[in-house]
Amino acid sequence: MIPFLDLLAPHVELRAELDAAIARVLDSGWYILGPEVESFEAEWAGYCEAQHAVGLANGLDALILALRALGVGPGDEVIVPSNTYIATWLAVSAVGARPVPVEPDPATYNLDPARIAAAITPRTKVLLPVHLYGQPADLDPILALARHHGIAVVEDAAQAHGARYKGRRVGAHGDIVCWSFYPGKNLGALGDGGAITTNRADLADRIRVLRNYGSREKYVNAVQGVNSRLDPLQAAVLRVKLGHLDEWTDRRRTIAAVYAEGLAESGLRLPHVPEWADPAWHLYVVRSPERDALQKRLAAAGVGTLIHYPIPPHRQAAYTELGVAADALPLARDLANEVLSLPIGPHLTRQHAERVISETYSR
Ligand SMILES: *Cc1c(COP(=O)(O)O)cnc(C)c1O
Repeated sequence: MIPFLDLLAPHVELRAELDAAIARVLDSGWYILGPEVESFEAEWAGYCEAQHAVGLANGLDALILALRALGVGPGDEVIVPSNTYIATWLAVSAVGARPVPVEPDPATYNLDPARIAAAITPRTKVLLPVHLYGQPADLDPILALARHHGIAVVEDAAQAHGARYKGRRVGAHGDIVCWSFYPGKNLGALGDGGAITTNRADLADRIRVLRNYGSREKYVNAVQGVNSRLDPLQAAVLRVKLGHLDEWTDRRRTIAAVYAEGLAESGLRLPHVPEWADPAWHLYVVRSPERDALQKRLAAAGVGTLIHYPIPPHRQAAYTELGVAADALPLARDLANEVLSLPIGPHLTRQHAERVISETYSR
């Protein structure tokens, strides 16, 4: 059996370090915010080459609080990819704004800067690119468009821990960058977790206040905030795992290279990496019109795969209210029908990857 992702292996590898970190929190008597969260925030900001990080309860809240901090609300529009995890859209809806889907670049599957301009209206407040599958979106033209129209850029980097765009880490190109530490992400907690990074002190401060009941000082509430704090226990776990992230990303990169070479003649469409991109390889996504048959064959051979994502947001019951025609976004539809994520992770061996390759060829 080759599982799609082995969530246990990283924790077995780091068991002693994790036990010590968890014991440190347990013995501290401090279980909300405090020094452990502050240390992680400083370390995460440093890693992301950003000036500020704010720890939050999960990635969806990171997106919601980013939009709130920018003053996005009812009547506003936010440009989102047509092909993304639904959290990107849900964050826009949660603040009362309207998600405006734009189709991806057919080569990279990321938001296509050339298509964004046509979707901008006087109501557009934010461009919200997603670094899907850990591949950085083409940020420079997106940032230029945003500057030209005087609107903000929020990045959904929930799949892109450690990715680089033109040599610089994803983390502070846009106004606010949103992170998830869901266990299956490249940097994952032992439960839910999230964060934002930014170079803007005003936005970091606003989100810091919003995450804690709108309060800077206990029992003094400046705004109507929420409870969305990163747990010190999760912060301690993330600090341990952050120390191994680069090595684990290198192992993902190696697996991706093995797939790229081994599957070159497979007829599958393989990930396209522009020369300016250094992906985090959260997922290794191939594309085929015979996707379902391939997935069945791999399953029969004991190879776990997943589909990211089988139903695009505009075709979900949750979004009938938007009134987007089912076939209005053909690229998102075709991707949903044709993409398949092969096993990848820091603990997948080269031998496993080679078996995935040979099972992919066998008929
Ligand atoms: C995981 C993910 C999120 C949401 O993160 P949670 O921590 O699960 O709330 C948002 N966007 C994308 C692209 C994701 O992959």
